[in-house]
Amino acid sequence: MNNISDDTIAAVATAPGVSGIGIIRISGKNSLNVIDKIFKNVNGESTGIINAKSHTIHYGFIYDNDEVIDEVLVSIMLSPRSYTTEDTVEINCHGGPFVIRRVLQTVFKYGARPAEPGEFTKRAFLNGRIDLTKAESVMDLISSGNEFARKNSLKTLRGSVYKKIYDYRDRIIHETAFIESALDDPEHYSLDGYPDILRQKVIELKDEIEDLLSHSSDGKILSEGIDTCLVGKPNVGKSSLLNLLAGEDKAIVTDIPGTTRDAVEVKIQFGGLTLNMMDTAGIRDTEDTVEKIGVEKSRNAIEISDLVLFVLDSSTSLDDDDIEIFGSIKDKKSIIILNKSDLEPVTTIESIKKYSDAPIVVVSAINEEGMDGLLHIVREMFLSGEISSNDQVYITNERQLSDLRSVKESLSLVINSIDNGMSEDFFTVDLMDAYDKLGAVIGEETGDDLADRIFSEFCMGK
Ligand code: GDP
Repeated sequence: MNNISDDTIAAVATAPGVSGIGIIRISGKNSLNVIDKIFKNVNGESTGIINAKSHTIHYGFIYDNDEVIDEVLVSIMLSPRSYTTEDTVEINCHGGPFVIRRVLQTVFKYGARPAEPGEFTKRAFLNGRIDLTKAESVMDLISSGNEFARKNSLKTLRGSVYKKIYDYRDRIIHETAFIESALDDPEHYSLDGYPDILRQKVIELKDEIEDLLSHSSDGKILSEGIDTCLVGKPNVGKSSLLNLLAGEDKAIVTDIPGTTRDAVEVKIQFGGLTLNMMDTAGIRDTEDTVEKIGVEKSRNAIEISDLVLFVLDSSTSLDDDDIEIFGSIKDKKSIIILNKSDLEPVTTIESIKKYSDAPIVVVSAINEEGMDGLLHIVREMFLSGEISSNDQVYITNERQLSDLRSVKESLSLVINSIDNGMSEDFFTVDLMDAYDKLGAVIGEETGDDLADRIFSEFCMGK
């Protein structure tokens, strides 16, 4: 494990650009010395801030020698009651990029060094204040793009994943301790019938981990958004629906690198969920004669989507193109949107049911009717059952998931050893392997390289 460095680090913690306030964070043994050298009152006299109590705020000025740099508020958080557990100082200065840079340069000049990205959180981790799952959730929380992602990362930050992993490890160490004791002291501990008991316990644990893993894909979809495509023949109302769904958020259009030139993604916030509307290039520019997404073009979009919204015009009859689309979406999560309900119906729910089991919602894009029904179905599909339960833990971090998958493999090996009648000391080897891998999830067994890699993906000043 990395040694905690002795030096004092500093960085800007607020976003670049012009703002009311910019915050510079300093952490480490010398934080108070640094601030003491540069923080003075209006007359340029020392304020004795070096002796300040923890969790106090001080008004004054940053000086570089005799030159006043800015008028500031300084917060003091003494070890161990700070984010990093080290002495920490935060300077609230004015939020112009030039002002902030000058204050930061002054901080560097008087003894701090520039922090690396994520270094404050890395210190919180290395100093034992937070485990790795909590550290990673800090970045997830900062980058959360919807309500689910915010709540889920906050839950992880408050220890939901850590508690689960801790419990799994506790159960494993209990069994290995029992086996070791019994092997050392057979007079007092009997292993008669124990393999069957252990087998049951390991299966239970493995099932719980499988359950956690299977929920993770839902968690990923909920936090990163549901990749959605709108398909249907020209003129059924796809762009009208997209505009209706997008509402005020219409402007959030991003290019997806590496895909076809005109592929775009529109992120839509829809009842607490995010829909990443895929490949909507043709749909947006309806005024032009831009090619609309036809049967052929939709195929690729259908393939890569989590959800297909298939739009039909209820005032016209189904034709071969529609029937072909029914075929291509039959294995996908899809919703059939029967649009133009304000017109005389030709295609009905009953006629659609001959071709598809997918849920059907009747809407009128032009009259803005039926969107509640659509939202209800999407929520049922992606937030059903335990998904909406508050106790469910979702792991959305790929590193944690991959470690958990290998824990599951080690547990399978324990079950194999039991089934093959191996001796008890074989069980402990794989049990301890599972224990160590669980340790990796929370960062108990993390090497320097991994910690460096994880924290380098953080933003500056966090
Ligand atoms: P797209 O080609 O599938 O994207 O279809 P558009 O959204 O461009 O709509 C085609 C035409 O149908 C336009 O003239 C829309 O105004 C009209 N339209 C869309 N939705 C409705 C609806 O709910 N009712 C009626 N009556 N017309 C609609």
